[in-house]
Amino acid sequence: MPSPTLTLLGGANEVGKSGYLLSAESEALLFDYGLQMTEPLTFPEVPEKVDSIILSHAHLDHSGGLPYLRKRKYFAVYGLDVTFDVARLLLHDSVKVNELKKLHQYYSDGDVDRLEECEISLKYGKERKLGEEFKVTLFDAGHIPGSSGVLAEVDDKKIFYSGDTKSEDTFLLSRADYPKADVLISESTYGDRLHPDRDETVSEFINTIEDTCDRGGVAIIPSFAVGRSQEILMMLDSLPYPVYLDGMSKSVIKIFLNYPEYLRDPDLLQKAANNAKWVYNSRTRREAVKEPCVIVTTAGMLTGGPVLDYLSRAGKNPKNSVLLVGYQVEGTNGRRLLEEGYVIDELIDKRIPVKAQVHFFDFSAHSDQNDLVEMAGEVSPKKIVLVHGQDESRQALAEKLSERYEVYTPKNGEKIDLDI
Ligand SMILES: [Zn+2]
Ligand SMILES: [Zn+2]
Repeated sequence: MPSPTLTLLGGANEVGKSGYLLSAESEALLFDYGLQMTEPLTFPEVPEKVDSIILSHAHLDHSGGLPYLRKRKYFAVYGLDVTFDVARLLLHDSVKVNELKKLHQYYSDGDVDRLEECEISLKYGKERKLGEEFKVTLFDAGHIPGSSGVLAEVDDKKIFYSGDTKSEDTFLLSRADYPKADVLISESTYGDRLHPDRDETVSEFINTIEDTCDRGGVAIIPSFAVGRSQEILMMLDSLPYPVYLDGMSKSVIKIFLNYPEYLRDPDLLQKAANNAKWVYNSRTRREAVKEPCVIVTTAGMLTGGPVLDYLSRAGKNPKNSVLLVGYQVEGTNGRRLLEEGYVIDELIDKRIPVKAQVHFFDFSAHSDQNDLVEMAGEVSPKKIVLVHGQDESRQALAEKLSERYEVYTPKNGEKIDLDI
């Protein structure tokens, strides 16, 4: 029996457009098929043959290419119900954003809806046979609700794809579970960094909000709709100030609450959702910023959405604060705000100066270097393939791992013979 091969269609030396093709003798299994948020969007290479796709989680860098690929290939896509629901929401939103920005549309709302025909639901921990050659089992990845690591077995060889993973408990989720395997395909987003102590970060974050509201200011928290805003909302539960929730996070929270089995404390999320005031129009936005309060809103990197409305109303007042709670990619408004003190509303081509205080907190939903090394210890593979990371991150992590394991840091387009 020839050994299986792994082809990096995308997402090897980058965070974005993940697509990792595992080929056995006659069948091919694809881990994720995402997009890269370039303008215009880019996708992983289209594989010659693919029978099944496993969707590790809903984020667009893992799911965003599915309708694009579906227009070219026929396949079945396996994943959790919650993942399909959130992915559909994000894919439709991506069509809408592309339309607003007048970018090329690679797929339509109809193409997104047609994906439903090829979706097959899985559950954590239940082995499933795919075709003749593969068996797969999903493990909780602790990254967003429903995120999965995937154990694929072919010919008694075990290959574990970590997906995006977090091996530490958060308010929203329990830490990831890892199986033993012969090969580990590991994400390496933070392969060269360590996160600060999470409890201390939470205390500093809460103190900053209290200081802002105590001096009569408004605390604006731009956060990602999927996972981060719900995590933040749960942290704010005991604050004596009004909390507003705006943007796509509202639809996401409803989906998460439909699947309480994927949450660490569904009652706390439900309580936090009930306590927050849900914002649906700009009249409420105008009223909200008149009193000390907390506003949790999209977009996480301030690239669009209601956060720009709040900044144009409240950004000039130095009593107010903007609390950034996620990594801000170069070229985004978030990075501009941190480094230059202003943002741009691209749709109306207007510069919004910000005099409010700007703070950054690391609430990453990814494992850091130490966690990734520990994951490798738990999986105890013979070979490790590092993906989903910039070259500096992968090199730094490879150095830590190479004493004990055979480590690969392939580029997009490369094919590895998994001879085990
Ligand atoms: Zn992710
Ligand atoms: Zn990712």
